[in-house]
Amino acid sequence: MPASTLDQLTSLCKRRGFIFPGSEIYGGLANTWDYGPLGVEVKNRLKQLWWKSFVTKRADMVGMDSSILMNPKVWQASGHVQSFTDPLVDCRKCKERFRGDKLLEEKLGIEAAAVLKVSQIGPMLKAEKIACPACDAHDWTEAKQFNMMFKTHQGVVEDDATLVYLRPETAQGIFVNFRNVLNTMRPRLPFGIAQIGKAFRNEITPGNFTFRTREFEQMEIEYFVEPGKDADAFEEWKELVWEWFSSLGIPEKSLRFREHERDELAFYSKRTIDIEYRFPWGWGELFGLASRTDHDLSCHQKLSGEDLTFTDPDTPEKKFLPYTIEPSFGCDRTILTLLLEAYTDEELPNGEVRTVMKLDPRIAPIDVAILPLSKKEHLVEKARDLHRTLVKETSLSIDFDITGSIGKRYRRQDEIGTPKCITVDFGTLGEDDKQGSKDTVTIRDRDSLKQERVTIAELVRALTVV
Ligand code: ATP
Repeated sequence: MPASTLDQLTSLCKRRGFIFPGSEIYGGLANTWDYGPLGVEVKNRLKQLWWKSFVTKRADMVGMDSSILMNPKVWQASGHVQSFTDPLVDCRKCKERFRGDKLLEEKLGIEAAAVLKVSQIGPMLKAEKIACPACDAHDWTEAKQFNMMFKTHQGVVEDDATLVYLRPETAQGIFVNFRNVLNTMRPRLPFGIAQIGKAFRNEITPGNFTFRTREFEQMEIEYFVEPGKDADAFEEWKELVWEWFSSLGIPEKSLRFREHERDELAFYSKRTIDIEYRFPWGWGELFGLASRTDHDLSCHQKLSGEDLTFTDPDTPEKKFLPYTIEPSFGCDRTILTLLLEAYTDEELPNGEVRTVMKLDPRIAPIDVAILPLSKKEHLVEKARDLHRTLVKETSLSIDFDITGSIGKRYRRQDEIGTPKCITVDFGTLGEDDKQGSKDTVTIRDRDSLKQERVTIAELVRALTVV
């Protein structure tokens, strides 16, 4: 069973070094979170897994890593300067600010709220008698559009000429390098460009732990196809991504597709589908798939004056702007989902409850833990020998823990999701037949709790091939 409340997970994440509140010693900075020693391992592993699945293993994909700061014309061409906005309403009584569409969404359902015009939001809040979540008043301002891009200045002078934005998505870094990728990689259609990186949005109402933050990481793909082949490519990506999330252990009953209504779509978009996950507070977007036509390339071509057309190598007279399918993953939301799914409170036969993070072993921060049964020097030395061997022979991440009773150490490893614990005892030393024969150790499985006695040689062989 996944964590039923976010509080349980937030507390475990802090206690065990997955995710800390940001700037904590200075009283924090609202809705910022820092990945700790174990969290950064999970994050790196997820990103590697994603990169392997969608870039390394595919002949039709390449990767890149573009700058966060880009020429502001990029955001004019993409439409972000004019319309990357959310409808902001103020409570006149307590002065708190909210996203008007989200307040209505809770009452009316997401489909109904998403299609509202900004001018309709204020009157609807009144008509639906929606109270301020902070102070319960019914005194809303009219909604106004609020641009979510963070602004800063490049260089020493702070004026309009030096204004730059922190990118609100990684996608535009791909489009502006389209010509460079064509020239250097000579790809044939269909092909895709992938990128992982930070994005920044001055969200009006961040919250729900790492679900909605103002600084987050995206894993995005722009997949280019010949116009007319976009509908099929869309279907393929839809299935592929669903399978990818399922392969990470997210049960299908906790996932759903949500197709955007016609009037919800951006004017250039032919089709958009989100994959939503059932978070403890309700369904929320985990991933978005958009069919963007040639909108982005055509806008950049127009404003930059650069030729961004693709030339078919087999028929060089055929020049056109490819259509784009955009699979866009939230890295932090995926991690949050996987942590929620992994969190399990389990009653043991002796009536005790253990908390265990049933993480997919591919993203668990530690692969194996070596636990000497006692702190006796020669026993610890034997365990250290095994640790040195495994570090040398494998590429696993290995913990070595001698602090506290064996029970406490097992509980800690369960809480951080370590799939296998290896116990070195007096049997291993050849000093106690009852514990096991010489040069054997016990392997404990995190999920089944099954304990198996194996020789060190067998263990090293098994872990070397992992
Ligand atoms: P939402 O409707 O939740 O604001 P969105 O539709 O604006 O999301 P996209 O622009 O499609 O999101 O971004 C792609 C992905 O990036 C989302 O599916 C989500 O996983 C992630 N993402 C977007 N905004 C945030 C945020 N503020 N914090 C964390 N992740 C985010």
